[in-house]
Amino acid sequence: MLTVAKVYEYLDKEMNFSSQAAWDNSGLLVGSPDRQVSKIAVMLDAMPLNITKAINNGVDLIVCHHPIIFDPIAKLPADHPVYRLARNDIALIAVHTPWDMAKDGVNYVLANALSLERISILQTEEGGNMLKMGTLPSPMSEAAFCSLIKQKIGVPFVKYVSTKENIRTVAVCGGAGADFIDEVARKADAFVTSDIKYHQFLHAQDIGLTLIDAGHFTTEDMSMNTISVKLAMEFAEAKVLRLKSVDPISYR
Ligand SMILES: [Zn+2]
Repeated sequence: MLTVAKVYEYLDKEMNFSSQAAWDNSGLLVGSPDRQVSKIAVMLDAMPLNITKAINNGVDLIVCHHPIIFDPIAKLPADHPVYRLARNDIALIAVHTPWDMAKDGVNYVLANALSLERISILQTEEGGNMLKMGTLPSPMSEAAFCSLIKQKIGVPFVKYVSTKENIRTVAVCGGAGADFIDEVARKADAFVTSDIKYHQFLHAQDIGLTLIDAGHFTTEDMSMNTISVKLAMEFAEAKVLRLKSVDPISYR
C-alpha cells in the first residue's frame, strides 16, 4: 500500500527537499508518514476552497507549492486550514523552493512555456540555483515578447520597464524574484518574474534590464501540472487529482 512516506521519498528524489531556501518551510507539514494514500490532490495553494474539495473527494494527501505553515501558529480555530486537514486526516506536503529549483520545476516550466532555448541554471548569490535562463529563437521586440508571455501563460496583461529595442536572453523566476534584479541584469536582457515594487522597476530602468511582472499565480501554476503527471506516472495505484487554484487577482 502506498504511504505518505513513499510519496515524500519520490518527491525528495525529484527535487531534494534539503535544497530549500533557508527561510522556506517545505516538506511534510501535516500528517503522518505512515498514513496510507490512495488519492492525492495537487494544487498551487491549499486555499480553503481547495481543502473543501479535497475533503469532499476523499483525498488522503495534498501536494501543494506554497507552505501552509510559514509563521508560528498562535491559535488553531476550527476553520484554520491546518485544523481542517488534521481533523479530516489529510496529509500535506509543500514543495515550494525545492520545486522552484528542480531541473523540470517551476522555472524550467516557465522558461519552456516562453519558448526559450538552451535553458540553463542562472546561479545567483542570493538564490543559489533557483533561477533559469535561456535564449529566444531570434531577437524579439519587448512588445512582441510581452504578447508572447500573455499568450503562453494566460495572463491578461503584464507590467514592464522598457529598456531596449530587442531582447534575446531571458531569465525567469516564477513568483517573487525581484531580489535578483542586479545579478540578472549582468547576464540577461530581460527578466520575467512577479511581485515587483515601484522602486525596483525604477532600479531596473537605471541598470538597463527589461523587467517584466507577469503575475505570481500565472508564472507558477502551470508547473503543478508537471507534478500531477509525474505522480500519476510513478504511482499507478493512486488516483491523482489536479485541483486548480484560482488566481486571487482579477484583471480588467
Ligand atoms: Zn509563489
